[in-house]
Amino acid sequence: MTSTNLTFPMLTASAILTNETLRTMPARSNSAKLGEARSGSGDDQRWNAVLARDAAHDGQFVFAVSSTGVYCRPSCAARRPRRENVAFYSRPEQAEKAGFRACLRCRPRSVSGNPQSDWAKEVCRYIEQHLDEPVTLERLGKVFRQSPFHLQRRFKATLGITPRAYGDSCRLRLLKRNLQAGDSVTRAMYDAGYGSSSRLYEKTASQLGMTPDKYRRGAIAATVRYAIADSPLGRMLVAATDKGVCAIQFARSDGELIEGLKREFPFAVRKPDQGGLQGWVETLLSTMTGHELNAALPLDIRATAFQRRVWTYLQSIPFGATRSYSQVAKAIGQPSASRAVARACATNPVAVAIPCHRVVREDGSISGYRWGVERKKALLEMEQRGV
Ligand SMILES: [Zn+2]
Repeated sequence: MTSTNLTFPMLTASAILTNETLRTMPARSNSAKLGEARSGSGDDQRWNAVLARDAAHDGQFVFAVSSTGVYCRPSCAARRPRRENVAFYSRPEQAEKAGFRACLRCRPRSVSGNPQSDWAKEVCRYIEQHLDEPVTLERLGKVFRQSPFHLQRRFKATLGITPRAYGDSCRLRLLKRNLQAGDSVTRAMYDAGYGSSSRLYEKTASQLGMTPDKYRRGAIAATVRYAIADSPLGRMLVAATDKGVCAIQFARSDGELIEGLKREFPFAVRKPDQGGLQGWVETLLSTMTGHELNAALPLDIRATAFQRRVWTYLQSIPFGATRSYSQVAKAIGQPSASRAVARACATNPVAVAIPCHRVVREDGSISGYRWGVERKKALLEMEQRGV
């Protein structure tokens, strides 16, 4: 499938609502300009994370409620305050300096170490990676070694919704993204994990407030900005939505690149970038020439559940190292899926950022790269020289 807007990997409900990036850390220092330009929407994103009780944001900020004088972590199970009573702080100390005290329920001071939310995050991730399969409470119970009853209760106490409702919200979100990108309704439903069930179709229509077809017609005009630069692999195009990088492509000429972008985003408004993408372009260039990326780029791409499993794994392959297709298949728990892994690599919409070039044949030989074997070879050589 082609790519567009689904940031990846989706970690939790609001990851899905806002920025479900491969935990999209902001791009490095040189993205300061972007950061400023977006600080207004930053609060909106935080607020979305709060509304979604997004445990993935725990530790990234706390929110303080003026009507109660208490501050909480984003995933706190307490009732949501009114937006106008909420202020955001990056660190608990700042909230305390401003006169707020820590919530006794979510204990925002003990951040990453909150076993409850770490656990819930893992359950979320499992659900996200299996949206195309029936994930029953029984199955979750087996995977996480708990009785279905306790698992559900614990999940709900942490996130405020049941695992099933969480899966539903992920699918719906994905469906919207796919429809926005211009996919046919059938395709969009299928790729979002709905299969071809007419019961689900009806349910979806009621959740969207209209039929998927109507939603699609209204929503496909996203804006994609793009920049083209010289790279060691020829001309490079980096394209982004307002949520993150959605395409990284290589070609010999700019015309070819622009054609490629058009094929990938036929419905989008495609605009040359006015300098805002420069930081990300520089980050990519320095990665390619052998400097390890120390912060992931925010990505905004669509993926099937299977692609998500593969691409997430690819991001864990160390800089300069390689894996074979069958090693990847084994690592994602589907040892017989080497061919599907190869396909997932070949459809990676963001070259280099998702390092599909680090997957090679069994015997170590280099084959199959969407942007040509020569480029793959060159990339690996630069990486291996760099380490
Ligand atoms: Zn709280």
